[in-house]
Amino acid sequence: MDFGWTPAQRAVYDRMRALGAEADAAAPDDRMRVLARGGALGLPIARELGGEGLDLVTTALAYEGLGATLRDGGVLLAAGAHLFGVALLLARVGTPAQQRAWLPRMATGDCMATVAATEAGAGSDVASVEARADRTAAGYSLTGEKRYVTWADRADVYFAVARDGGGDAGKAPARGLTALLVPRASAGEPGAARAGAGTAASAARVRVGAPLATAGLRGARLAPVSFCGCEVGPDALLGRAGAGLAVFQIAMTYERALILAFRLGAMERALGEAVRFVREREIGGQAIARHQAVAHRVAQMKLRLETSRLLVYRAAWELDRGQRGQAEAALAKWHVADSAVLFALDDLRLRGGAGYLEESGLPSAVDDALGGSIHSGTSDVLATVVARWLGL
Ligand SMILES: Cc1cc2nc3c(=O)[nH]c(=O)nc-3n(C[C@H](O)[C@H](O)[C@H](O)COP(=O)(O)OP(=O)(O)OC[C@H]3O[C@@H](n4cnc5c(N)ncnc54)[C@H](O)[C@@H]3O)c2cc1C
Repeated sequence: MDFGWTPAQRAVYDRMRALGAEADAAAPDDRMRVLARGGALGLPIARELGGEGLDLVTTALAYEGLGATLRDGGVLLAAGAHLFGVALLLARVGTPAQQRAWLPRMATGDCMATVAATEAGAGSDVASVEARADRTAAGYSLTGEKRYVTWADRADVYFAVARDGGGDAGKAPARGLTALLVPRASAGEPGAARAGAGTAASAARVRVGAPLATAGLRGARLAPVSFCGCEVGPDALLGRAGAGLAVFQIAMTYERALILAFRLGAMERALGEAVRFVREREIGGQAIARHQAVAHRVAQMKLRLETSRLLVYRAAWELDRGQRGQAEAALAKWHVADSAVLFALDDLRLRGGAGYLEESGLPSAVDDALGGSIHSGTSDVLATVVARWLGL
């Protein structure tokens, strides 16, 4: 077992760290463009499809580098939904034609993708979705209301999960869930040239609501998305008809393994600042680091970072080896998310009253971390995945 990084992996980390710093200095609206220009949206996509063909362990390291310098967790969440929730799924279950149609433009960020699964009555339990994918002569017609969709108003294509509504006059029986790639704009609609891959042509009726006022991760631009009789071709189908739940689980496995990799970098940065702070802050003539309670709090932050790191890289390694990785990904996401919340609380408490001021950025770091324990499966749901894996 080797815990070291190769020079090539170090170079990717350094490049992404520098890119994160550039994005951090950019206006919020420009950050995704900076990430796209710097190649962050194509790292694990095959070279022949416009990416860099990196393995997932190196990709996780790259996102750790981005998180070390880019403080906008919302944009990194959106980049992760695009790359890990959709692009990697396409690379795994998409047909060669689908991959050629979408991945080169997704790798450059010319086409942004996101996951549209959650509904009012189906958040944790995606099997209960009520959105319907009715089979038509030309493909599918999608109708349903999705909510809390990351990057909703900027996405060009949605990975949507819907109930298979069967076909005309009962000729084709319903078959569970169906996973579709649904372009936002159809031929003739604004943005169509950008979204249309020449495939999955949709007489799209996609309505996106205004971004929601979330507690944190504002840069992720969560919003509701309505599909109103949205027509897509048969080439919009991801995986087999009726196998939508399994397809969704694959997407979630990639997402859970990697979407919080950026948090490792964010925790590393915050830990360095916390160490400096407790050494420099003096009360009654001595640094607060001299208090065991304070020093242990910082040591606990280090433990949370290192255990998170191990689980993220382990999950990525399992996926690189072609394993299913469902439980490893759940363990990683669960542990990083919950550790990040406790880490952010400790970071704030170390500063006393100053930490409670908004200008310290620490209350919003807590809000951001909390979001991580909800998206891509809540910590309760991930605990259930792990318990099932244990045969419970
Ligand atoms: C920042 C952020 C980004 C998001 N991005 C997206 C996105 O891009 N696309 C998308 O489709 N959705 C997205 N979501 C939605 C997210 O996936 C859901 O909010 C999440 O799955 C929980 O669903 P829910 O909100 O309906 O809560 P519910 O499912 O109603 O859960 C409420 C509570 O009950 C618990 N619970 C529910 N079922 C179980 C169970 N079986 N076992 C144990 N406990 C359970 C939950 O843990 C939770 O504490 C995002 C959410 C957030 C916060």
